Amino acid sequence: MMTTDEDVVWVCQYCGVQNSVWVDLTIDGKQDFVEDCRICCRPNHIIVTTDNESHLYVESRPSDE
Ligand SMILES: [Zn+2]
Repeated sequence: MMTTDEDVVWVCQYCGVQNSVWVDLTIDGKQDFVEDCRICCRPNHIIVTTDNESHLYVESRPSDE
């Protein structure tokens, strides 16, 4: 059975705390969205990519860059 969603961890680029977000893995390729940090409430740009073997890569960037 394929995993269709997954809880992924991203690191806030402003305060360094780890946050998690639920990602829908049925969407192919790259997903990007903005998430607010649960501690400092600043918006981070989250980029989630999957490769052909369903490996998941998560990157976070300051949203104002
Ligand atoms: Zn933060």
